[in-house]
Amino acid sequence: MSQAYPITDHVYDAVVVGAGGAGLRATMGLAERGLRTACITKVFPTRSHTVAAQGGIAAALGNMGRDTWQWHAYDTVKGSDWLGDQDAIEYLCKNAPQAVYELEHYGVPFSRTEEGKIYQRAFGGMTTEFGEGPSAQRTCAAADRTGHAMLHALYQQSLKHKTEFFIEYFALDLIMEDGVCRGVVALNLEDGTLHRFQSEAVVLATGGYGRAYFSATSAHTCTGDGGGMVARAGLPLQDMEFVQFHPTGIYGAGVLITEGARGEGGILRNAEGERFMERYAPSAKDLASRDVVSRSMASEIRDGRGVGREGDHIHLYLNHIDADVLAERLPGISEAAKVFAGVDVTKDPIPVIPTVHYNMGGIPCNYHGEVVTKQGDDADTVVEGLYAVGEAACVSVHGANRLGSNSLIDLVVFGRATADRVAEKVQPGDGLKARTLKPKSGDEALARLDRFRHADGGSPTAQIRGKMQKTMQSNCGVFRTTEILDEGKTLIDNVYQQMADIKVTDRSLVWNSDLIETLELDNMIAQAVVTMHSAANRKESRGAHMHEDHPERDDETWMKHTLGWVRDGKVELDYRPVHTYTLTDEFPYIEPKARVY
Ligand SMILES: Cc1cc2nc3c(=O)[nH]c(=O)nc-3n(C[C@H](O)[C@H](O)[C@H](O)COP(=O)(O)OP(=O)(O)OC[C@H]3O[C@@H](n4cnc5c(N)ncnc54)[C@H](O)[C@@H]3O)c2cc1C
Repeated sequence: MSQAYPITDHVYDAVVVGAGGAGLRATMGLAERGLRTACITKVFPTRSHTVAAQGGIAAALGNMGRDTWQWHAYDTVKGSDWLGDQDAIEYLCKNAPQAVYELEHYGVPFSRTEEGKIYQRAFGGMTTEFGEGPSAQRTCAAADRTGHAMLHALYQQSLKHKTEFFIEYFALDLIMEDGVCRGVVALNLEDGTLHRFQSEAVVLATGGYGRAYFSATSAHTCTGDGGGMVARAGLPLQDMEFVQFHPTGIYGAGVLITEGARGEGGILRNAEGERFMERYAPSAKDLASRDVVSRSMASEIRDGRGVGREGDHIHLYLNHIDADVLAERLPGISEAAKVFAGVDVTKDPIPVIPTVHYNMGGIPCNYHGEVVTKQGDDADTVVEGLYAVGEAACVSVHGANRLGSNSLIDLVVFGRATADRVAEKVQPGDGLKARTLKPKSGDEALARLDRFRHADGGSPTAQIRGKMQKTMQSNCGVFRTTEILDEGKTLIDNVYQQMADIKVTDRSLVWNSDLIETLELDNMIAQAVVTMHSAANRKESRGAHMHEDHPERDDETWMKHTLGWVRDGKVELDYRPVHTYTLTDEFPYIEPKARVY
């Protein structure tokens, strides 16, 4: 196969796939340690979805009232509905303040308090005194463009070190030899050349797969390519049934209105003008955690109290907030509301609806970023040479539900931790010393590329993708029942089978968007089937997974991570235990209890 596709070989100590917040932080850390590092990215680094993050990054700095990292960790455990691994959560929250100061020193222009400290706003589910005290102001913000500021600062820092960027290169597949990851095969989108990267460590930082759904806040590039590669390598994906719906996507457009809008005092009202969150979450109200607010909104709509001609959405009011505060703290969303909903937020409410926003599930890994799989009874078997970080990964700190502003901090804390772990295992120059790849390694990736490039069936990519997105939206949404999910399994399996009949029209290799979208669809559909089957399998309600026929959380049977493999076109499921231990006495294990806000 490699004769049909001439291939250029590269050798590195470490290769990072992805240049969002997670990929860039890992890249920087690796290069800083003298490892010869390549960063491969399908879009220009500063166009990664991280650039769109608005609200902010969580860390218990205590700049706006007393706060401790243990309270942050408690909130994260509770937010995860006790599916998060508490060792990883402890690591995240303890290291968060340092990670934010590091960003500050890298040049992130955080908003400031009167005294010149980093400004912090309230976000959903963030409390004080282990949930007993009032809301915490824990979310550090650069106005409502925090991700933009972060991504630019991290890119600048990566350039300072000797990183080699392969921009607009599309990673096709991992190179696995005897269960060890030894590199990755990529296509240069610009000139159609093929590249084989041999590396002692491959870090997947490819982001989420939100685009498997019809309506999502994520960029069109969020197609979960890393998860697709991992599934094809015969490795499992974890907790895929947990898909977060953000309460406030702009109705009809999907564009996000940050939770920071409610953090600054925004209020949701139904068609009767009622502030309904007072009924569902008497103490946290509009700032209850995302799954709770999304479900409450869906309930209002289902019970006939939605707004608009079709009664199918909800109103978010900001017009009682001082116009100067809106201009200073929420300029981006004021603009988005104007452009995408034609609304002047100082006067009128924004039409909003729960919209797919984040994937809690992903590539299973430990808090060092090492990818793990289950072998026999050992559910923590490390896959040598392979790491995952960011939204592509499932560490798992977010468990069944991620708290707002906990993703950006996850990117930098674990991006750094992953670089640290790789640097423990790989010495500068190891890549060059290492045994070369087997001649045929990478051939499977090329065969797959060739198959899709010449695919001549009866179903255009866009048609199959549309079916997948509609099926996921209607059969794996905010509310789930046995009937809806069982039907969903049949429907999504049919879509998956239709991949054999796919049609690609453009046969070239240069800027072939038809081919790239097909490869992306192939990555997404693998994750869509695992998501649907995992959801149908979990007979309880926890976090984002609300099963109406099993409305209670069932810790006895279900406090465990789902693992899903795709084998011969079929999904196979198994489980991993949740880590019910912590790393130090500074944060004792939190026993499960009811999650009320
Ligand atoms: C609109 C919006 C607002 C958000 N706001 C917040 C917020 O305020 N606070 C918060 O904590 N979280 C927020 N989130 C969530 C958070 O921004 C994301 O989870 C996070 O940015 C993901 O970062 P990442 O580095 O994992 O991936 P991304 O930023 O998505 O980057 C993925 C990278 O992988 C590369 N890539 C993917 N596939 C391939 C391939 N096949 N070959 C080569 N390269 C590839 C891409 O080029 C890109 O560089 C928000 C999300 C959205 C969508």
